[in-house]
Amino acid sequence: MYKEAADNIYLVEIPLPNSPLKVLNSYFIRSDTGGRNLIVDSGFNNDICKAAFYEAMEVLGFDKNNTDFYATHLHGDHLALMQAMEDVNIYFGRFDAEYLERREQQNKKTGYFGGRNIYLAVELFGMPKEYVEVLFKAEFMKNRRHDRNNYIRVDEGDKFSVGSYDFEVVLFAGHTPGQTALYDKNKKILICGDHILGNISPNITFWETDFDSLGNYLDSLEKAKKMDIKQILCGHRSNDFDVYARIDEIIKHHQMRLDEVVEILNREQRNMTAYEIAAKMTWSVKADMWSKYTKEQQWFASGEALAHLEYLHKRERIKKYIIDEMLYYSI
Ligand SMILES: [Zn+2]
Repeated sequence: MYKEAADNIYLVEIPLPNSPLKVLNSYFIRSDTGGRNLIVDSGFNNDICKAAFYEAMEVLGFDKNNTDFYATHLHGDHLALMQAMEDVNIYFGRFDAEYLERREQQNKKTGYFGGRNIYLAVELFGMPKEYVEVLFKAEFMKNRRHDRNNYIRVDEGDKFSVGSYDFEVVLFAGHTPGQTALYDKNKKILICGDHILGNISPNITFWETDFDSLGNYLDSLEKAKKMDIKQILCGHRSNDFDVYARIDEIIKHHQMRLDEVVEILNREQRNMTAYEIAAKMTWSVKADMWSKYTKEQQWFASGEALAHLEYLHKRERIKKYIIDEMLYYSI
């Protein structure tokens, strides 16, 4: 019933309702040497994900007493379900854990509750205020346990033995501030979260001013390129593609986006918000014009545009202005 993606690693497909990602690939790693099992990534904290996840645990014989958990990154489709489980060990990258902690500290000051401050983010992205309501209802915002921070924090180079696997933690910052992957050097297997995906390009968005999302992401792609990878196990969609060709494709994709942003600013010759620029960029969505995009799609596009704008600004290729707490960019 569950596909064995590699020896003792089961691919469990968790359906993601109301998400264009459709399915999360959760990896159940069985220890064949009597030690503890490990489950990498889990799904949203909702009934549909839970049903699929707990059924797989039962069928495969994984339970809290013999299993630890590992979240590759802070996104709700990877972390939220395990985050809601009591009495479990969750291994989680230090930088993502610290980001969540920092966010909660800020929220305490501003009185905001609910993870990422959507009011603030909507403002930074330059989006109209009515987007806030819609985003609050989005699946990725729901059912997060913001109070939890008792993770076992992992760092680059930490070792994990699960049965006959000897994993090492690899930091792939970019998609989130501190996404991590598990790599077995001898078996050349990489469980990579959303760092590299076969059929869709991982979302690169703006997190905070000090973090250069796109710069870090491109560096992390170069890092993966130097690794010896025979099999890749991704967070979504197919695992069956040429990893190195795909890395080059993703790098090219971002270079084209950077060129497009510069071209738009050159053409417009005015101060523009990320939202205004996103509206003029090319996106691979079904709708044929910006006004037909869902508000959620516009949110992801604006965040992606902002990551590219920040990248260009940090390298002094464009100018940035803060007017009434909104970010504007120009050539
Ligand atoms: Zn993700």
